[in-house]
Amino acid sequence: MFDKISKIIAEKKLTASDCGYHTLRILENNGKIRCLVVKGENIVHIELICPKCGTYSYITQEWGEVSKAAKLRFKVKCPKCGFLIKVEKLKGKK
Ligand SMILES: [Zn+2]
Repeated sequence: MFDKISKIIAEKKLTASDCGYHTLRILENNGKIRCLVVKGENIVHIELICPKCGTYSYITQEWGEVSKAAKLRFKVKCPKCGFLIKVEKLKGKK
C-alpha cells in the first residue's frame, strides 16, 4: 500500500515534465516517503511510511520555495505519532 501518488500520476496522466518536484526516499526502519508537486500547483502530495511508528499516511501540505543555502527541502510530521521527517536536498550529497 504505497500507491496513492502513483494513482494521482495515472489519473492526471502526468508525465515527468508535469512534475515540478518528485522524490522517493528510503528512511530508516523501513520508512519511506514519496513526494510530488505538480507544476503550477503550490501543494505537495506526501505519501509516507513513518520510520518511527510504521503508519502509512497520505497528506498534502503547502509547498514553498526554499533558499539555495537551505539544506532541508521540507519537513513533514507523521500525523499519528508526530515524528518529524526532514527531507534534505539531494544536491551535494555523496
Ligand atoms: Zn509515526
